[in-house]
Amino acid sequence: MTGGNRGLGLAYARALGEAGARVALFARDRDLSDDVAADLRAEGLDVQAFTGDVTRVADLERATDEVEAAFGPVDVLVNNAGTCVHRPALEVTDEEWREVLDVNLTGVWNGCRVVGGRMVAAGRGVIVNIGSMSADIVNRPQWQPGYNASKAAVHHLTRSLAAEWAPAGVRVNALAPGYVRTEMAPVDRPEFQRYWIEDAPQQRAATPAEIAPSVVFLASDASSFMTGSVLTVDGGYSVY
Ligand code: NDP
Repeated sequence: MTGGNRGLGLAYARALGEAGARVALFARDRDLSDDVAADLRAEGLDVQAFTGDVTRVADLERATDEVEAAFGPVDVLVNNAGTCVHRPALEVTDEEWREVLDVNLTGVWNGCRVVGGRMVAAGRGVIVNIGSMSADIVNRPQWQPGYNASKAAVHHLTRSLAAEWAPAGVRVNALAPGYVRTEMAPVDRPEFQRYWIEDAPQQRAATPAEIAPSVVFLASDASSFMTGSVLTVDGGYSVY
């Protein structure tokens, strides 16, 4: 699990652990990850924290070696780490554009290459890439062009790898959440409330716990005939 020390990733880690998985968190903030892993262990779950940055292939290689030493081969990779710049196009700096694309797209690519490459060699594995409904809609009021473009690319990277790796026994799907209450999505700020809550069919944002069962489904044999799919869980927002 990339990310996993807060927000949606934490909910995914808890749900996967409750489903019986041994869970490895992989994020940059070592202290937070250690604390979260300890809290989840106190809940009876088998969770360990590993540290690194998804934009650095060497970090992923080292952490995957560490995870394999602790838990054995990785059966499921959830590429969840992400970032967002809430600004319209002409206010986004070159540095912010690169950061969003590096984390959200290249980070997923790095995870797929490093962990997915080992799955292909082993002839089995499941990858869940966290995309977004923002791949298909445009976020008002602050547009977030780099974020939207990065998530659209994640969805198509998912389809591409799914087709290429199906003969090797590796399934690759994406999950596309709608607005969810986390640090990334400031749903209660007045300028977002109008579009993200009042305009939503259910007139609310999701909690992370409402999204997590879909990751467990995509990670499990219950979805054994799914690959190259994008599962949208957005309370109906993207039908508009
Ligand atoms: P948060 O900002 O709450 O959490 C982001 C997570 O990603 C943290 O665990 C963070 O840990 C980790 N992370 C960020 N950058 C890196 C990096 N370079 N290397 C490793 N880990 C990193 O975001 P959410 O929980 O809201 O989002 C999680 C995913 O869900 C993202 O991909 C996001 O785009 C997607 N999503 C979110 C939606 C929402 O409404 N919240 C809607 C649709 C999709 P650390 O900082 O310690 O590295």
